[in-house]
Amino acid sequence: NGLPKQPPSPSPLRFSKFFQPNMRILVTGGAGFIGSHLVDKLMENEKNEVIVADNFFTGSKINLSKWIGHPRFELIRHDVTEPLMVEVDQIYHLACPASPIFYKYNPVKTIKTNVIGTLNMLGLAKRVGARILLTSTSEVYGDPLEHPQTEEYWGNVNPIGVRSCYDEGKRVAETLMFDYHRQHGIEIRIARIFNTYGPRMNIDDGRVVSNFLAQAIRGEHLTVQAPGTQTRSFCYVSDMVDGLIRLMEGDNTGPINLGNPGEFTMMELADVVRELIDPAVPVKIVENTPDDPRQRKPNITKAKEVLGWEPQVVLREGLPLMEADFRHRLGIPKNY
Ligand code: NAD
Ligand code: UDP
Ligand code: UDP
Repeated sequence: NGLPKQPPSPSPLRFSKFFQPNMRILVTGGAGFIGSHLVDKLMENEKNEVIVADNFFTGSKINLSKWIGHPRFELIRHDVTEPLMVEVDQIYHLACPASPIFYKYNPVKTIKTNVIGTLNMLGLAKRVGARILLTSTSEVYGDPLEHPQTEEYWGNVNPIGVRSCYDEGKRVAETLMFDYHRQHGIEIRIARIFNTYGPRMNIDDGRVVSNFLAQAIRGEHLTVQAPGTQTRSFCYVSDMVDGLIRLMEGDNTGPINLGNPGEFTMMELADVVRELIDPAVPVKIVENTPDDPRQRKPNITKAKEVLGWEPQVVLREGLPLMEADFRHRLGIPKNY
């Protein structure tokens, strides 16, 4: 017919011959804040094939938009409370809402995600012989009576409070990990993540850094919850992702604290945000929520020794990187 011949479309067989990943990696919760940054980093390695399983409760396809359609990437809408059958070498198990307003929204679902979700991922790891990493939390220390918190500290957790679905849920998830390890020989890794911030955090998720930044950019008052002397330590997301990958690739089961030891009261954080973004915005003291831990700061001696890891990005460097993303999403450019 005179038209140029169409090249033959590559058959799946030919494609698989051409592309042989060395490592198939499942990331549950990969459409979320930390998960999507982890996926970005894992995809940089051409030997990795990445599968994300996410129910999009707090995560979004937008966080992964640059990978959708990539031959080494696959996105599955899946709830981890249901069984999942895939063939993988490693599992980064992040699926779980992390912000108090989202994990308290449906606490029974939060418990199911932590307990049944982790059980399913351990069953999967057992069936296929995969190594599995759980993103646990500094919340397992509760309102800590030891400061800063080391991995040996057992915590001070209210079992029946409004935060318990999350912190007791993660404690059971850690127990399941160790029981599968002891009983079935599963290779496990547990990270205890302390407060992490950075681009792609949900603007309206109620966490302190995202609240203060959005408030300062909009020119609204910063809502410091009483008393304002409570402390947190904030880790930039690229440091966190680096720590998670080192933990997965190393040979220590953990638990290992991952976080930035730089400790700030909420009043100090408000002052840093005002200084960097808009000194004119006022601070307003508002009511706090129940069981709010009064202080939190990681002891990261173990991470330094075992993983050779420590955070590189200080708060004053990390906040402007997050500000750029928030301004873009809020549609409010910076006035110089
Ligand atoms: P996030 O809410 O942005 O991400 C969680 C992801 O899990 C979302 O994409 C969500 O849609 C998905 N998800 C939730 N329930 C699910 C379910 N049942 N099935 C499948 N997918 C589900 O939170 P994040 O800040 O990225 O946190 C990631 C992990 O790190 C969580 O396990 C969290 O507990 C842990 N962590 C985070 C922090 C922090 O400061 N961000 C601190 C400690 C621990
Ligand atoms: N599971 C899964 N994917 C798999 C294998 C198991 O989701 O590839 C789930 C399975 O449905 C079960 C859980 O993991 O609910 C625990 O599995 P395990 O084999 O340890 O326990 P059992 O099925 O014997 O109760
Ligand atoms: N916080 C605050 N203003 C806000 C949101 C939170 O002062 O608008 C405080 C909150 O009381 C807590 C700290 O910030 O002491 C961290 O809260 P967040 O919800 O970010 O994380 P988590 O309590 O899980 O550490």
